[in-house]
Amino acid sequence: MDVRAPKGTADMLPDTARAWEHLTRTAQELFARYGYEPVYTPLFEHTEVFARGIGEATDIVSKEMYTFADRAGRSLTLRPEGTASVVRAALEHTLVPQGSLAKLYYAGPMFRYERPQKGRMRQFWQIGLEALGAAEPGVDAEVIAALWRFFETVGIPADNMRLLLNSMGDDVCRPGYRATVAAYIGEHAEALCAECNRRLDTNPLRAFDCKNPACAQVMAGAPLLRDELCEPCATHYAEVKARLDALGIPYVEEPKLVRGLDYYTRTVFEVQADAGLGSQNAIGGGGRYDGLMEMFGGKPTPGLGFALGFERTLLAMEAAGATVPSPPRADVYVARVDESVAAVVFDVASALRDAGIAAELDHQARSLKAQFKQADRLGARAVVVVGPDEAAAGEATLRDMSTKEERRVALATVVDALRALLG
Ligand code: AMP
Repeated sequence: MDVRAPKGTADMLPDTARAWEHLTRTAQELFARYGYEPVYTPLFEHTEVFARGIGEATDIVSKEMYTFADRAGRSLTLRPEGTASVVRAALEHTLVPQGSLAKLYYAGPMFRYERPQKGRMRQFWQIGLEALGAAEPGVDAEVIAALWRFFETVGIPADNMRLLLNSMGDDVCRPGYRATVAAYIGEHAEALCAECNRRLDTNPLRAFDCKNPACAQVMAGAPLLRDELCEPCATHYAEVKARLDALGIPYVEEPKLVRGLDYYTRTVFEVQADAGLGSQNAIGGGGRYDGLMEMFGGKPTPGLGFALGFERTLLAMEAAGATVPSPPRADVYVARVDESVAAVVFDVASALRDAGIAAELDHQARSLKAQFKQADRLGARAVVVVGPDEAAAGEATLRDMSTKEERRVALATVVDALRALLG
């Protein structure tokens, strides 16, 4: 058997898993301050949730989905992102009755069949947030602020990040603009790659995203939606920027930012961090998707959200020297002089754990010296030593690891003595 995890996946070993828990805890605390509640949707959905929601012409749907038939022959897909699922759940459970607002966040793995490289995995982990029901530009600024503050809170300094901002327009101004770009692409067809030509009819705006240098050169001269936004979209965009200015969140207007998903309308944004990341430098991004709920058969419901990538955030944190808090693995080590007192030691450790104190003990008949070494490695601040003499007297020796002081205490008072010692 091949014991390696499948290509593009990785085991989260304790250090990484601790980082994931730190980030999800940070998200939980921070997003709660903004009024967001947790939501967990299934890891797989009916394929059409993504095919329709994200768009047939996107890379995700056309090339990257893990789609399978279950035993009853239904087509299911491992979720490639979170928004479509959250909107599907909001519709199923009527989370956004007319006039209300649902503020939700989630965290978990996503799956895309991409070519693995640094910061790009086939199973990767995201933390995301969605605000459903509000059309006002204030909620755009709130969502962007939550993302920006998250990165700052986990230790990525503002100087290491760049917030790109754009407006994709709406049903009124985008169709005309799409046609303009399609015509522009048609005029430059011979200079553009096959992929950009192929998407001419389905998704011409994606040509702005193409990594091919020749395409980038052509698209540098393409007409910009910024200049063709309808009045309401232009006003909305201006107000989002004014709110971000007021918050002191720096942004760079990037009129070519289109993002890969079909559902975006109006505000789109992306946070990039260069240090620690190669070409995959987007650590988070999102946008408004006012038409998505309706596309799923619901009432027109405005919404927007973001997703941030755990693996890339961690790389950016490492590059910035940000650390993940790692509490000592044991406050107390309970050591035994020999096996005759194994049961007593087990009872003492259990009593400590029941009292809320992190306690470790030996399970491998190690020497006392080895047990003290282990206590050091675990960061224990005290060691309780039990030998046959102590046990016979109903006592234990308590050693304070910082002062090296030792004293005998009655077994019945060990928990209280350690509570006092640990403060
Ligand atoms: P997206 O859903 O494509 O907007 O991605 C949101 C964030 O998820 C990105 O900014 C990345 O940080 C992260 N991300 C997207 N795709 C991958 C991937 N294949 N591997 C690792 N992280 C990813």
